[in-house]
Amino acid sequence: MSRASSAALGHRLERVRTRVAELELDALVVTHLPNVFYLSNFEASAAIAVVAPSRLYLITDFRYSAAVASLLAGPDAPPDAEPLQIEGSYDAALARLLDGPLAGGRFGFEAARMTVKQFRWLEDRLAGAETPAKGSLVAVDGIVERLRAVKDAGELDIFRRAGALLSEVATALLADGVVAAGRTELEVAADIDYRMKRAGFERPAFDTIVASGPNGALPHAHPTSRRIETGELVVVDFGGMLDGYAVDLTRTVAVGAVDARRRDMYRAVVESQRDAIAAIHAGVQSDAVDDAARVVLKREGLDDAFGHGLGHGLGLEIHEDPRMAKRRADGPPPVALEAGMVVTVEPGVYVPGVGGVRIEDDVVVTEHGVEQLTHVPLETGLL
Ligand code: ZN
Ligand code: ZN
Repeated sequence: MSRASSAALGHRLERVRTRVAELELDALVVTHLPNVFYLSNFEASAAIAVVAPSRLYLITDFRYSAAVASLLAGPDAPPDAEPLQIEGSYDAALARLLDGPLAGGRFGFEAARMTVKQFRWLEDRLAGAETPAKGSLVAVDGIVERLRAVKDAGELDIFRRAGALLSEVATALLADGVVAAGRTELEVAADIDYRMKRAGFERPAFDTIVASGPNGALPHAHPTSRRIETGELVVVDFGGMLDGYAVDLTRTVAVGAVDARRRDMYRAVVESQRDAIAAIHAGVQSDAVDDAARVVLKREGLDDAFGHGLGHGLGLEIHEDPRMAKRRADGPPPVALEAGMVVTVEPGVYVPGVGGVRIEDDVVVTEHGVEQLTHVPLETGLL
């Protein structure tokens, strides 16, 4: 895991504090671990960060005391950080801070990241505090996630390296005939994972998908013991974590000669992806990019076969903001893309009984277009 500079952390914290002030909060309780890491450089399987106006409290347990001490003494320390080691539970340590040094405040908490049980316990504890001013909890959503969506220069450097590395892995596995008739989906997936680790990825970013023939009609198929046959399309979707950041790529491979119907599906998805990438630039609405991907599919009668959103943000997690999808009454509202966002562009068509095609690349949104992070040849036999 590479660390952000102290100055970059200071900038991130300043933006969180601005948002906290706008919401008339006194502090933000950050319990989602990727968000804790983003604001503090502190990576652990358990931790809570509390962003107060002039302090960043880092609550951890004894397992991490040496790691926290070395982080805070080092050159990449978060500014104005104060470590707090828990004695009983994390919740009790948080409560001691909220009804101790920060007593009486309005505390934002990440509603999507706290259990009902934790919330009730904390609320009771604040209500029963022996201080004259009782603190209160205010549910907030996505404050840190929205900041994370726009990458800074250090993050973009990691993405450039990760995109190039994933492209190398993908290009080699296509050239080496890893996806071949007679092999099982599980064998192919195991080879892909091995190659990613050998290339230097810390781990796969998600469970590798290898979906052959009719299995390709399931967008999230898990690899099975099914043997790949000649004449089939095989969707391979994989990604790796490099320096803590996720990259994600899909190619569809033709095994032997495939029929005209499958070739038409393939060409339509290639065109769809090209149109979608051409539609991306800072300021465009995320749903408009999804629309752009559907024009050619509609023309080919394949619009209904594209049942998922066009793409997602990448970062410390594999699925982040922004989501690029159709506008839906019950879905999240579309957002305007901003320069520095990193997104996947992954149209696909899925036809039961026939199979599927998906092609996915990663791009950085720029002022006037994109910077493409992944460069992998398309299946020329199908074009
Ligand atoms: Zn993918
Ligand atoms: Zn993806």
